[in-house]
Amino acid sequence: MSSHAGGEVPGLAAGRLWAASHFPYLASGLFGAQVLAKPGIATVAVDEGWRLHADPELTAAWTPAQLGSVLVHHVSHLLRAHGERAVAAGIIPDDARTWIRGADAEINDDLVPAGLELPGHPVLPGHLGADEGLLMGNHASLATELKSRTAGRGADMVIEAIGHPEAWELATQLVRRGGTINFFGGCPSGTKVGLDTGLLHYSEITCKASFHHTPAHIRKALDIVGNGDISAKDFVNREEPLTNLLEVMRHLMSHNGHLKTAIVP
Ligand SMILES: [Zn+2]
Repeated sequence: MSSHAGGEVPGLAAGRLWAASHFPYLASGLFGAQVLAKPGIATVAVDEGWRLHADPELTAAWTPAQLGSVLVHHVSHLLRAHGERAVAAGIIPDDARTWIRGADAEINDDLVPAGLELPGHPVLPGHLGADEGLLMGNHASLATELKSRTAGRGADMVIEAIGHPEAWELATQLVRRGGTINFFGGCPSGTKVGLDTGLLHYSEITCKASFHHTPAHIRKALDIVGNGDISAKDFVNREEPLTNLLEVMRHLMSHNGHLKTAIVP
């Protein structure tokens, strides 16, 4: 350890106390994690050895609530095994920033409403176009969860409706032997997916895709909405003026969260 021992992080004791009194169930993590002063890094970071690295100049400017909140946030990264999950998910350096923002949103979504006072502008699921209250995507855990709910079988039918190559590949891990996958979500043109040939062949997986619909289906859908069986509020989740159409189209192409946007001239 360098001469900058943990005690030299300004405000650490008060920050820990604030954190442990507001989030007592995290107390052992808060006091168990070693906090090291790292002048000049301009951030607070955490490693898998439960060491927090904090720039003393930064922490000196924070209130006990702010430093305490940053500690809670980082202990949450450790408790949720975000580092191990990144390795397991094969996150490459290019994706790291996106991964970290997803992990941050997963934590802040739970803890900001519980009283976390993070300095700056903490990222929340809404900033990423995601719904609140979800866990960050973890394919392995999704497959495990599904298997556990289906006595180890997997889903009879998987409908992929995201339009992302990763989700197409994930669909093959969720379907049962002899099951069917419908690739409903169109991926960006030019993208390719890698499929486990052994799995498709020996498990006799049926893969199909649907693109369009017939006039009869449109009429049926309109009837369902018209009868009030389904509320359009469930899928029209934005409203924009006609002048913003181009921006809306660009946003849709980035597959960023919202389903349908009502264009109001
Ligand atoms: Zn974070």
